[in-house]
Amino acid sequence: MAPDSARTICRTVTEADDGAETGGILLGRVQDDGTAHVRHAGTPGPAAIRTPNYFLRDLAHAQHLAEAAFRTDGSIWIGEWHTHPRVDAVPSPRDLLTYSTLLADPALAFDVVLAIVIGPLLPIATTRVVGWACTTTGVTAVSIDSEVLLLPEELRGT
Ligand SMILES: [Zn+2]
Repeated sequence: MAPDSARTICRTVTEADDGAETGGILLGRVQDDGTAHVRHAGTPGPAAIRTPNYFLRDLAHAQHLAEAAFRTDGSIWIGEWHTHPRVDAVPSPRDLLTYSTLLADPALAFDVVLAIVIGPLLPIATTRVVGWACTTTGVTAVSIDSEVLLLPEELRGT
């Protein structure tokens, strides 16, 4: 994960201290060997739906970010990230339904949907940041390689 992406996620999680989920899209490339490079992480956008147990990105905002990232470095939409303020960093049944809908859409041509789930947010000592590779055959936890701490220092001890 590129440092700027990790910083965007840190900042967005810190700002969303209202108990509602937050998140955004992930843009980059998936190499032939299966390694995903996250070059840009999105913010939720003004029209995102944020509740304590559900997040839906602002589609127009996400499309704008995707177009800008593609122009910048050829990055494409490879997945999404979101928080679970109160529950573990495991995709919920509703999350899995979202990912399978994306995988089933031929226009999107996803072989794999990359998901990063962060939770629970309190207490901070229990927070985990977990990457998930979602395909039509199942969901697997994957490691995240980032030079930047994905958890903001400001959240610690609060
Ligand atoms: Zn979720």
